[in-house]
Amino acid sequence: METFDIQRVRADFPILGREVNGKPLVYFDNGATTQKPKQVIDAIVNYYADMNSNVHRGVHYLSQISTDAFEVTRRKVQSFINAAHEHEVIITKGTTESINIVASCFGRTFIGEGDEIIISAMEHHSNIVPWQMLADEKGCVLRIIPMNDRGELDIEAYNALFSERTKLVSFTYVSNSLGTINPVKAMIDLAHQHGVPVLVDGAQAIQHIPVDVQALDVDFFAFSGHKMYGPTGVGVLYGKEELLNKMPPYQGGGDMIKDVTFEKTTYNELPFKFEAGTPNIEAGICLGDAIDYINSIGLDAIHAYEEELLAYASEKLATIEGIRFIGTAATKSSVISFVVDGIHPYDIGVILDKLGIAVRTGHHCAQPVMQAFGIPGTVRVSLALYNTKEEVDLLVAGLERAVRMLK
Ligand code: PLP
Repeated sequence: METFDIQRVRADFPILGREVNGKPLVYFDNGATTQKPKQVIDAIVNYYADMNSNVHRGVHYLSQISTDAFEVTRRKVQSFINAAHEHEVIITKGTTESINIVASCFGRTFIGEGDEIIISAMEHHSNIVPWQMLADEKGCVLRIIPMNDRGELDIEAYNALFSERTKLVSFTYVSNSLGTINPVKAMIDLAHQHGVPVLVDGAQAIQHIPVDVQALDVDFFAFSGHKMYGPTGVGVLYGKEELLNKMPPYQGGGDMIKDVTFEKTTYNELPFKFEAGTPNIEAGICLGDAIDYINSIGLDAIHAYEEELLAYASEKLATIEGIRFIGTAATKSSVISFVVDGIHPYDIGVILDKLGIAVRTGHHCAQPVMQAFGIPGTVRVSLALYNTKEEVDLLVAGLERAVRMLK
C-alpha cells in the first residue's frame, strides 16, 4: 500500500462491521488490545486446518512445517526490531512474561541485597510488581524516576538516582495511561554511562513507532502480539546475546534442554533455553502475519496517520465542558486520558457503551499514576490505525450527551 488508504485498512478488520447496542462499533480501547485483520484471522484458521502439529519435536511433515513457520516468525520479529541475531528473540506469552523473565533470570542472578533497580513513576503494574517481588525476595531497593504534572519524566532526577548499587533500569517507551513517549535513547545512553543495562517495556510503542533495538542499544525489549494486531498469548523478549547467555533458564521442561539424565541436565542454546514447553504455536506463527500486515502498510505511514488523528481528537475533545486531560506531554502517542469535572469515569464509559463506543475507564493497571494525579481513574481513548475522524466526532457527540445527562 503506497499511500495510507483508511477505507482499505478498515475493510481488513471484520469486527469493525458489527454493531454494538444497535450502533456501529466504534472501538477506542486499542491500548488494551487491538482488533485483528482478516489476514491474521485467516492465518489462525489456516494453521489449525492445515498444519497443526507440535514444534521442534517431530521428524514428520506437519511438525516440520509448523516448526518452520514458527521460526519464520522469529526471523520476522528479528527484522522488525532489527535485532542482530534471531536467537536474541525469545517468544513468550506477552510483555508481562517477558518482564518476569528478566526479573527472575537476570534479577535473581545479578541483583542482591541492597542493590538498586530504577523504574519510572508511569509504569504499568507489570513493570512494577515483578521488581517488588524481587525486592521482597532479595532485599533490593526500587528507585522511582519522578514525573511532572504533564506526565513527563524528570531526566535530571533520573540521572541523580544512579549509584554504585544500581543494577538495572526498566521503564516504558510509551505510557499506557498518559500517552507520553519517553526519550528512550537518551535514557538508555545515560544508564549505559553509569554502566547499567536497560529493559524497555515496548507494549505501547511497537504498534506505533518504528523500533530498532541496535540503534537504541537497548539491552532488553518487551512487547505483546495482541497489541499489534496479532493474536493473544504471544509476545517477545528481545535480549542482547551476551546478557541472555549469562542468565539461567526461566522454567524447566521440554525444549529448553540439550540432555537430561537423573544426574545432570544440560540446557539448550538460545533462544530455546528460555522457551520451555509447548508454546502457543498458532499465536507464534500468526504473530508473523501481524508483522507482515503492519509492514504492508508501513509503520511510518501508520505513525503519521495516527499523529494526525491524535491531534484532531485532542482538539475536538478539548471543547467538552469540564474536561481535564491527564497526560499532556510534549511528545505523545495514541492515548488520550481525561476526567470530566464532577463525573465518574465509569459513568461516562457506560453511556458511551450504550452508543456503541468502546473506551476504557479506571486506573489502566497504573495505579501509581492515578495516585500521582490524585484521581481514582480516567477515561482512556486509545487510537489505532483503523480509527477515523468520523469516529472521533461520534465520540465527542457521545461525550457531550453523557455530560448533559450526568451533570
Ligand atoms: N506494559 C504496558 C505499557 C502495557 O500497556 C501493558 C498492557 O496494557 C503491559 C505492559 C502488559 O501487557 P500484557 O498484558 O500483554 O502482558
